[in-house]
Amino acid sequence: MTSGMTTGSPAAGSVGQAAPAFAGPCPRLAPDLVSGEIRSDWTKAEIARIYFSPLLELVYQSASVHRRYHDPRAIQQCTLLSIKTGGCSENCGYCPQSAHHSTAVKPEGVLDQDSVEASARAAKEAGSDRFCMGAAWREVHDNTQFQNILAMVRRVKALDMEVCVTLGMLSAEQAKQLKAAGLTAYNHNLDTSAGFYDKIVTTRTYQDRLNTLKNVRDAGIAICCGGIIGMGESAEDRIDLLHTLATLPEHPESVPVNALVAVKGTPLEERPPVDVLEMVRMIAAARIVMPAARIRLSAGRAAMSYVEQALCFLAGANSLFTGEKLLTTPNCDSDADRQMFDLLGLQPIT
Ligand code: SF4
Repeated sequence: MTSGMTTGSPAAGSVGQAAPAFAGPCPRLAPDLVSGEIRSDWTKAEIARIYFSPLLELVYQSASVHRRYHDPRAIQQCTLLSIKTGGCSENCGYCPQSAHHSTAVKPEGVLDQDSVEASARAAKEAGSDRFCMGAAWREVHDNTQFQNILAMVRRVKALDMEVCVTLGMLSAEQAKQLKAAGLTAYNHNLDTSAGFYDKIVTTRTYQDRLNTLKNVRDAGIAICCGGIIGMGESAEDRIDLLHTLATLPEHPESVPVNALVAVKGTPLEERPPVDVLEMVRMIAAARIVMPAARIRLSAGRAAMSYVEQALCFLAGANSLFTGEKLLTTPNCDSDADRQMFDLLGLQPIT
């Protein structure tokens, strides 16, 4: 941590804190910072100026940038299915699926292809245009298992859906085979800043993650990559994460913004909940620095009211996960989402 600021006790200029009272007019973000131009040369200082701007000015600007690249009513619905749950050899501090932590998650084997396809069909009927399959692995070692995953990708693709998988680290050759099978996107989150990373995970490095992202990009697969807030990181760590994402050779096609769901039995079980306005700030800053990306309101949404989610959409979120569970943690149910879409005048992307 660079400043000792945490999400639980914001200090001056930190996230989640009311902007200082200004005697004069509200300070505006400089036009060059909110031009909406797609840039990969952002500096940390520029992102910090965006991130720390008064919240309503930030949301006004991010909403304006959002409208230059996206229909503000259109929201992508992705359904996430855990195809192999628990027993993971990695030690990610937030994750109930790690074999290093004692949680209520019971390890389960890999789902069979027919049940995966049936889940994808149901997701499509419920309005999802993307189906994501997640497996709790460090990487896929076994070629038989990898061929099984390729077959799942082909079967979901044949339903005319976008297909995403998250399987841990990926070699260049595996990425090529996934591309050939029809994979749309690969999810591999950076989680947090390079500086804070080893407080959360020690079984693989930040560079390992960047290497996987390179393999995915080189294979021509869209990258889905974001992070988690509320793990004890500072505001500077969040800015560093945004900087890493926004200065990749190409911006991720989708950027999940997660609020930590503190699960009993994980090292982060005592972390206090993330303030919704911190999520709004993170989403708004992500929208401005990665204008064309889909910003996905991800974990933590189940605890938000419609009004709070509306603020996230206004700030630039335009994608969400549907289905009762986000791998192993609770999510919003689809009836509630349908009602929210009706109330807010949102439309699923199909
Ligand atoms: S986040 Fe993924 S890699 Fe980390 S412990 Fe959980 S399942 Fe394993």
